Amino acid sequence: METLTAVRGFKDILPPETQLWRHIEDTARKVFSTFGFQEIRVPILEKTDLFTRGIGESTDIVEKEMYTFHDRGEESLTLRPEATASVIRAYLEHALHTSETVTKLFTIGPMFRRERPQKGRYRQFHQIDAEILGPDDPRTDAELILMLIQFLRTLGLNGLTLDINSLGCPECRPAYREAILGYLHGQEEQLCSDCRRRLKTNPLRVFDCKVDLCGQIIGQAPRLTQFICSGCRDHFAKVQQALKQFELPYCLNDKMVRGLDYYTRTTFEVTAGSLGAQNAVVGGGRYDHLVQELGGPDIPGIGFAIGFERLVSMIPEGIPLTPPALFIAALGEPALQRAFLIGNRLRCGGIIVEMDHAGRSLKSQMKKADRLQCKYTLIIGERELQENRALLRDMSASTQEEVCLDQFEEMFSNRAR
Ligand code: ATP
Ligand code: MG
Repeated sequence: METLTAVRGFKDILPPETQLWRHIEDTARKVFSTFGFQEIRVPILEKTDLFTRGIGESTDIVEKEMYTFHDRGEESLTLRPEATASVIRAYLEHALHTSETVTKLFTIGPMFRRERPQKGRYRQFHQIDAEILGPDDPRTDAELILMLIQFLRTLGLNGLTLDINSLGCPECRPAYREAILGYLHGQEEQLCSDCRRRLKTNPLRVFDCKVDLCGQIIGQAPRLTQFICSGCRDHFAKVQQALKQFELPYCLNDKMVRGLDYYTRTTFEVTAGSLGAQNAVVGGGRYDHLVQELGGPDIPGIGFAIGFERLVSMIPEGIPLTPPALFIAALGEPALQRAFLIGNRLRCGGIIVEMDHAGRSLKSQMKKADRLQCKYTLIIGERELQENRALLRDMSASTQEEVCLDQFEEMFSNRAR
C-alpha cells in the first residue's frame, strides 16, 4: 500500500532537532520573563473577520495566503496566519486592559500561510511573538527591541542586522500616500500585476515587492522622512536615542514598510545575511490603532514576531544533548530483567539511563554506550548476577570497579547527584 506523507509545506520536526527547539523556547521564556512578560496561549483557529479587520484586506496575507474554510457550512474560520490579532482579541475579550495599564504578553506556536514552499518558507511555520499593550512612549519601543536583541545574543547568534524605520501616523501618512501615487503616476505599466493592484489598495506596499523592476522604480520614490509629522519625528528620534544608550547598532531603512497594514511609527526587522533570500528572522512594529480597529478602547501597542524555523537554521551545530549518566549492559534474560528494574528505578529518581532490550552481544552494547557518550556503564553478566555483583565502568577514564548489585541504586544515585 502507498504510504502517506505530510501535506506540502507542513513539516515534521524530528529529534534531535526538537531538543534545539526546546532550548530556544526555554531561552525565550527566561529572557522575556526578566523583562516582565507573561505567556498567553491562544487558539490556532479564529473567525476570519478577525484577520481581515486586523491584518488588513490589502495585505498579501489576507489577499492570498490564508487557510480559510466554512466550518461545515456555518461560520468562516481561518487558521491564524500571525498571532497579534488573536492576542488582542483575547486581551479585549477577557478585559485584561482593565486590570493593568501595561500588559506584556508573549506566545509561541504555529502559524499558517499558503505561500509557495521553499527553504525558510513553509505553510505551517512557528513564531515567537511578544506584545506590549498600553504605553506609547518611545522608551517602550527601545525596551522591546533591547529584549529581542538580548534574546538573540543569549542564543549566541551574530551577524545580524537590525533595521528600523518610522511609518508615521494617520496624520502624516495620507500626504505621503498621495506623494507615492503622484510619483508612480505614468509608471504603472512597468509595475507587476500585484503592485498595480497595490496602487489602489495600499501604494506603500510597493516597497515590499520582491520583483526587481518594482524595487528599482520604488527605490527612487520620495520617502516618508520628508513628510513625517513633528510628533512622529520626535518619537522616532527618542527611540533611536534610547537604542544608542544601550549601544544597540541599527540601520535606518526608510524603504522598510512591513507586510501588515496595522503598523504605525516604529517598525523594525532583523535580518541575517546567512539566510539568503528569506533573510528576515524577525519583523515587528508599533500598532497604535489596532486595538481600536478590533473594537477596543484607544490603546496603543507594539510587538514582534520571530520566525522559529529561520532562527533554528542559524544555529547549525545544534546544542549538545545531555548524555546518559549510565548505560546498563546485560547478558542473558535474568540479567536483562535485573537491568530493567534497576534502570527504570534510577530513571524514576531523575537519572538518565540507557539500556538495550534486544539482548545483543556485550561488544555491541558497549559500542552503543560509547556512541551515546554515557558516563558509566554497568555490566551485568550471568555469573556476576548469581553472585549479586556487577562491573561499573567509567567510560572516559577506562577504569572499572566491582559493585554490589543490591546496593547499586543507592550508591549510583549518590554519585550522580
Ligand atoms: P517575508 O517577507 O519573509 O514573507 P513577512 O514580512 O511575511 O516575511 P512577518 O509576517 O513579519 O513576515 O512574520 C515574522 C517572521 O516570521 C518573518 O520575519 C519570518 O522569519 C517568519 N515567517 C513569515 N512567513 C514565514 C513562512 N511562510 N515560513 C517560515 N517563516 C516565516
Ligand atoms: Mg510574507
